[in-house]
Amino acid sequence: MQHLRKRILVTGGAGFLGSHLCEALLATGADVICLDNLFCGQKDNIVHLMDNPFFEFIRHDVTFPIYLEVDEIYNLACPASPFHYQHDPVQTLKTSVHGAINMLGLAKRLNAKIFQASTSEVYGDPNIHPQVESYFGNVNPIGVRACYDEGKRAAETLFFDYHRQHDLDIRVARIFNTYGPRMHPNDGRVVSNFIVQALKGQPITVFGDGSQTRSFCYVSDLIAGFQAFMAQDKEIGPMNMGNPNEFTIRELAETVVELTGAKSTLTFKDLPSDDPKQRQPDISKAKAALSWEPKVQLREGLGKTIAYFDDLLSRTDLNRIETPG
Ligand code: NAD
Ligand code: UDP
Repeated sequence: MQHLRKRILVTGGAGFLGSHLCEALLATGADVICLDNLFCGQKDNIVHLMDNPFFEFIRHDVTFPIYLEVDEIYNLACPASPFHYQHDPVQTLKTSVHGAINMLGLAKRLNAKIFQASTSEVYGDPNIHPQVESYFGNVNPIGVRACYDEGKRAAETLFFDYHRQHDLDIRVARIFNTYGPRMHPNDGRVVSNFIVQALKGQPITVFGDGSQTRSFCYVSDLIAGFQAFMAQDKEIGPMNMGNPNEFTIRELAETVVELTGAKSTLTFKDLPSDDPKQRQPDISKAKAALSWEPKVQLREGLGKTIAYFDDLLSRTDLNRIETPG
């Protein structure tokens, strides 16, 4: 039956990216189901959507099957921060692999278009720079990051096999470091860690000597990219999505200190194992296929994110906020 509104399932919808995506999809008039087990997402991220009759929250773990009726699926469920995904590595791998199998099975039954939130981590510690989609990557299959990296690689394999074998309409996006409001303050990723540490006047924990690089994309740019990718029918991916402007982690720390006006000093800690030395997306494919590129540059995006955390910290028991690392 043809429904008046497009029905869209977002797994991991109570997380950082998922909550922004649910909001953007509701703004298009869609009927949105947000599925999340709240392992690292939180109700606070979606509480402002709860009164909308076209928004529905289901607490469910994607590693178990679920039967729903939808027209499109965005599969985002998976812890994204190294601290969280290494907490229970077996569950992380199950989430990527069993989660993908369950969501692909659902999409196959419904003949629904399905999007996979893959990652730049499929390139591991890359030997070519910037990273292009044709690069196969350099991943340690038995290291501490493998539960995430190999899980996401296997999920890509499943998506492309469902496409070849069952003609499923897929989109696979390889997301590079994205930041913004609604990152969890205890999440452990570098942007939230540095901002929270600066706002609390604590030392900024730089891992290694801070010469490793990342390229940071602001959340609104990424979500616009997801929607543009799903809206067209020529490219199924894999498609790099991120902001190509590259910074060292030390530069990021210094910029956060400057923008917050904090008195924090930098403190240097051991570099975690298999931490990639450099990372920058080549986004020529997305530019050509989607006419998409990020608009918000680092200082502007950091300003908005700092304002978010400043407000959050002012109304939260600070004993509950402890940056891991
Ligand atoms: P996040 O941790 O804020 O969100 C992930 C969400 O998935 C959380 O709400 C969590 O509770 C949920 N989840 C985890 N395991 C689940 C399970 N088994 N069943 C149901 N829900 C589960 O992270 P995020 O930054 O919003 O990332 C979203 C997706 O994008 C992830 O798949 C991640 O791998 C991918 N990604 C994000 C980035 C980034 O920089 N933010 C980069 C690359 C890839
Ligand atoms: N990092 C850091 N201090 C922190 C958290 C992270 O120096 O408190 C470094 C980390 O070692 C990595 C980079 O920042 O080199 C990005 O880490 P993040 O966990 O955000 O994501 P990754 O890109 O490694 O998955």
